[in-house]
Amino acid sequence: MGLYIGDIKEHTIVEGPFKRYALWLSGCSIRCEDCCNPHLFNRSNGTQTSIENLKLNIQNSKHTHNIEGISLLGGEPLDQSEELVKLLSAIQSENLGVMLYSGYYLSEIEKDPIKARVLQFVDLLVDGPYLPSQRQTSRRWVGSSNQNIHFLTNRYQDQMDEFQKGNQVELVLKRNSLSVHGFPVLNLKRVKK
Ligand code: SF4
Repeated sequence: MGLYIGDIKEHTIVEGPFKRYALWLSGCSIRCEDCCNPHLFNRSNGTQTSIENLKLNIQNSKHTHNIEGISLLGGEPLDQSEELVKLLSAIQSENLGVMLYSGYYLSEIEKDPIKARVLQFVDLLVDGPYLPSQRQTSRRWVGSSNQNIHFLTNRYQDQMDEFQKGNQVELVLKRNSLSVHGFPVLNLKRVKK
């Protein structure tokens, strides 16, 4: 078992408040039009990774990079809820903040007992599918105006300065590839056409 992972960034400042470990889970059953990560639609495009290895990697990132928390992105993280609960339970004692991006609305998550179990570990939830007709660039970490930021605990409620900054982009050069993280104001899919 384990989680199917599309990408990992051991430290980033553009995928949530402060410095974070970011985990992109592969597989998405929602499949929004103009999704910026269509290469993560199929779970099998990711690498199956054990919970123990992910835990060690996150612990290493905490000690090496002094991360404040982790961000779970996708793909749709809640499509792997059972394994995700195992990971979040395994790292709970690290006292890291947890931010979850989901294409499901909070009300839908709460009605599904398996997905809802993940919420007990989450501090900050960005919910809802990406709707290109409602694209929005002014709110940090949010892609379209139908999406909402939910403070599920008070961990980030006193950090409003972080939420009022502009969106940022990180360019990462790894060997022969360039990856873009964060929120590009330009719609890269349209630029490529
Ligand atoms: S839920 Fe997220 S990953 Fe899935 S299609 Fe929509 S934007 Fe893309």
